[in-house]
Amino acid sequence: MDTTESRTRHREVVAAVVAPVDPQLVIGGVRRPASDGATFDVLDPATGGVLAAVASGTVDDARACVDAAAAAGPGWARTAPRKRSEVLQRTYQLMVARAEELALLITAENGKALADARGEVLYSAEFFRWYAEEAVRIRGDVQTAPGGANNILVLHQPVGVALLVTPWNFPAAMAARKIAPALAAGCTTILKPAAETPLTALALVALMEEAGLPAGVVNVLPSAQPGPVVSAVLADPRVRKLSFTGSTTVGRTLLHQANEHIVNCSLELGGNAPFVVFADADLEAAIEGAMIAKMRNGGEACTAANRFFVEEGIAASFSARLVQAMGSLTMGPGSDPSVDVGPLVNQAARSKVESLVTGAVTGGATLELGGETPAGEGFYYPPTVLTGVAADAEILHTEIFGPVAPVVTFTTEDEAVDLANDTEYGLVAYVYTGDLARGLRVSERIEAGMVGLNRGLVSDPAAPFGGVKESGLGREGGVEGLLAFTESKYIALTW
Ligand code: NAD
Repeated sequence: MDTTESRTRHREVVAAVVAPVDPQLVIGGVRRPASDGATFDVLDPATGGVLAAVASGTVDDARACVDAAAAAGPGWARTAPRKRSEVLQRTYQLMVARAEELALLITAENGKALADARGEVLYSAEFFRWYAEEAVRIRGDVQTAPGGANNILVLHQPVGVALLVTPWNFPAAMAARKIAPALAAGCTTILKPAAETPLTALALVALMEEAGLPAGVVNVLPSAQPGPVVSAVLADPRVRKLSFTGSTTVGRTLLHQANEHIVNCSLELGGNAPFVVFADADLEAAIEGAMIAKMRNGGEACTAANRFFVEEGIAASFSARLVQAMGSLTMGPGSDPSVDVGPLVNQAARSKVESLVTGAVTGGATLELGGETPAGEGFYYPPTVLTGVAADAEILHTEIFGPVAPVVTFTTEDEAVDLANDTEYGLVAYVYTGDLARGLRVSERIEAGMVGLNRGLVSDPAAPFGGVKESGLGREGGVEGLLAFTESKYIALTW
């Protein structure tokens, strides 16, 4: 556990990075308080103390955001692709130059360890670089109609005003993964960051303004009342796109609301990733991958390995090594560079993890490591390993969103696939095997939008990220992520 000295240092460090952030709404390039003057507190998960009071956008502010985005829309859509690209390219450069301040700001409000926050900043910056490169390569298509009488011309045009709603677990990356392709495509946007982590979004947009972002192209609407403000935006027929990342429950609600004006939706929702290890896998590599897939962000990732399925013959040695690796991690305030695991985001997140672990143990699981909430300030929960988890335990059917690894054994390939698919989610899966043919066969059979084959990390700005089943609709990243902010226009012509 951390020392008093590192806690004191933490308070100084976070106060220094939070101070320069303007905690107001950004509407049409102007910083404003909420229309009713209300604010909400952003907490430091390492202490439970208040970091900042941020303007809490109202329904009127939401409408003002739509007005600003709609007013800026035609000009931005007409802006030369090269000029749009340059704003994104300069944003990339500024993010890299300011990586340490941004990383500390993410750590301050989200709690994650600094190494994870640094990784997130660079990952986020890469979205700006990738879409700066893509902005000038939005190709159409032309072909002769099969009947031969005419031609088919296809243009990809910006979809229009886009509402971007992001979660707290990757406050920079989830915003970057939406803003960069939206702007590359020629859309103007309203960003509604999570109430737990609005400061990173505000800092990112300030940096984009330095990079030449015109007024109204990205409006930022933090709010303590997400339901009403998001509904108000979606109720406006000028809004043509919803790009949401968050829980399946909220995604489902927004999909219903989007039906009124038939809004184009991209949804990145929850996950319940299986991590399957066959007996022929390189055990060392599997543990290394497991540590990344489980412990990146302290387990607070939609891509986090949520269920470990290990072939019977190697299950005991896999679990023993996992216990050793997880047990060697240092827990403490994320701003301390020697810390591997920061606190969870808030008390509700910790209570959920506690109750899932207690439920599993009551159902017969063995606690091999961790499982005890530390006393004192901050929302800490220790790295925890469970074995012998019952098939019906809630922990295997719910996103844990914490540093807990439940291990279950299997005996055949078919059983592994059935276990992996026994969930309504289908975001990502991890498969470890020394047999490439089996790896590909199992990857093909697992119901997931993405598979890490002998890898514990799949995210890449150039790759299509997204899920099947109740993990979402559409893809972010890659060419797909850009086309998601466009509509295809077909022009039939004869020449
Ligand atoms: P959440 O669904 O509670 O919140 C996400 C966003 O929606 C926030 O901005 C929040 O303020 C807003 N929101 C909440 N209630 C709303 C409502 N009634 N109407 C409109 N907006 C509302 O999710 P979270 O707790 O912030 O994030 C964790 C979840 O996000 C997990 O389920 C995780 O798997 C998922 N996630 C998915 C991906 C992915 O790419 N698939 C990535 C990161 C996180």
